[in-house]
Amino acid sequence: MRRRRGIRKVFWLICSMLVVIGGCVPPERPARGRLIRVALLEGARSVAISSQSTLTIKDAASGKVLFRTENRKSVTVSGTSEGAAISGKPCGARELLVSSTSNSLSVNGKTYPGNLRILARNSGLLVVNLVNLGTYLKAVVPSEMLPTWPEEALKAQAVVSRSFVLHHAFRNDAEDYDITADKQVYNPEKRDPRTDRAVDSTDNIVLFYRGELLLPFFSTCCGGFTEYAANVWDTKDVFPSPVKCPFCRDAPDYRWQARMSLDEFQEKLRSAGVASARSVAVHSRSTSGERITALRIESDTGQSIIKINRFRLLMGPNVIRSGLFDIQVDGGYITFRGRGWGHGVGMCQRGAKVLAERGKSFKGILDHYFPGARTKKLSG
Ligand SMILES: [Zn+2]
Repeated sequence: MRRRRGIRKVFWLICSMLVVIGGCVPPERPARGRLIRVALLEGARSVAISSQSTLTIKDAASGKVLFRTENRKSVTVSGTSEGAAISGKPCGARELLVSSTSNSLSVNGKTYPGNLRILARNSGLLVVNLVNLGTYLKAVVPSEMLPTWPEEALKAQAVVSRSFVLHHAFRNDAEDYDITADKQVYNPEKRDPRTDRAVDSTDNIVLFYRGELLLPFFSTCCGGFTEYAANVWDTKDVFPSPVKCPFCRDAPDYRWQARMSLDEFQEKLRSAGVASARSVAVHSRSTSGERITALRIESDTGQSIIKINRFRLLMGPNVIRSGLFDIQVDGGYITFRGRGWGHGVGMCQRGAKVLAERGKSFKGILDHYFPGARTKKLSG
């Protein structure tokens, strides 16, 4: 692909998200059976809950039963300045525990395993799903990787997702929840026997790097090479070096294209306070090579530096799928042509699929994408 300096029509961009990565993680904490606290809703005014069996709501502080129903009716919990209200009546509690005899609850029409913890805060309700680690992973792995993919790729995803959530859980031990439901996609309705097996057969296996539990990232398709985490996120932690990935080049997501009118492009920039953009140029690039970390935009009001993660959000993260692309301006339209899908840090899922098809084990796949890291089975 061609590149030019200054005002240009060709750009390489990196996708990124704002993630601040925390400090040390206890390396020997048990994993099996641990409850994961998944934030489903934050700041909600109310939530509708139902169950196919007996549903009980208790005051978390006193243990007193506040509500119980066996008629499968939905109950609404809302937040007031006095605390939580059940079916519109203040119950005098700020924290509720919701359980069912079937260990399954519907939250705003979507079914989740385990129990709920609801906190009535001034900012609204925080609804947290309390779920066993294995059950959580059996909802995450099929949400993040197709169950039809090779077994060793699914097992690699299971190890990565387990390490990812445990890192968050250990780090957020003193917080109200461990992880949000979209940090890695948690959709219990996607469960599949094939991904269940991948989770069970890698039980308690996680990734360690330099003596600590690794926070292993992954993305759909790296576009040919992976990226330094520190070039994408604000972190001082140490991560494995990026690697070349020639394995994803035949993937359907390897190339993408997006096209919009210049008026639409300028309108999207206007929401960032950039009026009448005249030109866009690369401001900085990743030290790993071609990915861009920030853009410089000249407009009637002066010069603006826009970090690449913000640029992707302004354009639409599924419009600008990755940081690797060029731009062409032609006939009143701007066309983005790029490679890869996602931030490019850590495991390339498309590459993992190809490696598994070529006979690599899940450990071999992880060795490639996390050089220097090793798998370790935590005590149960
Ligand atoms: Zn790749």
